Amino acid sequence: MEISKKIESLTNEMLDKLGRLVKYNSVRGEALPGKPFGEEPAAVLAEALTIAAEMGFRVKNLDNYCGYAEIGEGTEIIGIAGHLDIVPAGGHWTHDPFTLTREGDVVYGRGTTDDKGPLIEGLYAAKLLADSGEPLKKRIRIIMGCNEETGSACMVHYNEVEEPLTMGFTPDGNFPCIYGEKGHMAMIAESKNTRITSMNGGFVTNAVCDECTTVVPKDAAEPDALRQALSETPLTSFTVTETPEGLEIYARGVAAHASTPLLGVNAAGCTMEALQRVGFRDDFVDFYVSHIGTACDGAGCGLKCADAYGDLTFNNGIVKTEDGKITATIDIRVPVTVTEEQLRTASAPYLEDDKGKITILDIGESLFYPEESELVQSLYRAYVEVTGDTENKPMVIGGGTYAKSLANIIAFGPEMPGVDYRIHNADEFITVTDLVRSTEIYYKALQNMMRR
Ligand SMILES: [Zn+2]
Repeated sequence: MEISKKIESLTNEMLDKLGRLVKYNSVRGEALPGKPFGEEPAAVLAEALTIAAEMGFRVKNLDNYCGYAEIGEGTEIIGIAGHLDIVPAGGHWTHDPFTLTREGDVVYGRGTTDDKGPLIEGLYAAKLLADSGEPLKKRIRIIMGCNEETGSACMVHYNEVEEPLTMGFTPDGNFPCIYGEKGHMAMIAESKNTRITSMNGGFVTNAVCDECTTVVPKDAAEPDALRQALSETPLTSFTVTETPEGLEIYARGVAAHASTPLLGVNAAGCTMEALQRVGFRDDFVDFYVSHIGTACDGAGCGLKCADAYGDLTFNNGIVKTEDGKITATIDIRVPVTVTEEQLRTASAPYLEDDKGKITILDIGESLFYPEESELVQSLYRAYVEVTGDTENKPMVIGGGTYAKSLANIIAFGPEMPGVDYRIHNADEFITVTDLVRSTEIYYKALQNMMRR
């Protein structure tokens, strides 16, 4: 039987197994003895290993950090690394997030696409290849992590106690495949002397500051002039209120992921620019506008740069006032060919003056495999063979996946180009069509890697 037909005939079986995983609210919980991420991540791992054992895999639990299912023989290991933990099922779901619900081609549930569904696809792809009569002269190992969403400590543990993968992928990104992931740089800016009474906004460092409340002295600006200046920014709404403490400015911008800050509107940045425009003389307003601003390109810190694979992006996520000092978090995504040394050298002359100071907290490495490498080609060819799509090309992204934690893998699917599967959102779904098609792509990818 043709492999696509064979997979199609297994649809209900695959959905049953996916339902058994979706049942668990496997958000990270409080650490317990022997369960580093809490009760539910350990429980869903046990269930996933049970499913794999039922399918004929050898299984191993690595101290509830992660586990794996393995099939085949040989010294080399082809790996598929996915995750069983999820983000909280917030928002307004029209279906129970923990009951797999099928409506026609669409199947709802938290984790269906991110990333429980792809693990089921990986298990079936490996099992079908083993059953096809193709000699498995390399082992295929499906690694199931329990801490992707909050730090990937699961893969640190894997690297400590297990053999490295020879080659493989993480089904936790996009098709056709992701051969580069930008580096990450974190900084924090702080005021030295400021007349701003308080400024607080934003909710996480890795999203654009979408909301901000600022209090400045009454004599800082004429309220109407300030309103006029705020109206000339891209803010979606704002208010200026005279209070006993001074002028209170509430600004609402637009949230966006830190890797794509130009899709958002930074509420703190717009407030700062408006304050400067109305003539409010303040050290930190000047420092913020000149060093951070709203251009999202890092020019104010000497960091503006780009390579053939993308631009540097620069995002202010949180602003906070404590003991009269204002701090602003900065999340930077660095082009894949730019080094840590280049970043330090370029930014050094800009990071401090008498008006403010910026401290580098961390610089993380980027990930890059040449497009013509065997790894990228083995995967991309499988995608093209199954979908016929040659228009969408392998890509570079600003986010980070398991590919940064495990050797010799890149992100490969499951999200098809142009489809929003609502991952991390209410009503996350997968389609049966995609479940079948991705399994076939993964099957061919394993075959390509097995034969190389
Ligand atoms: Zn994920």
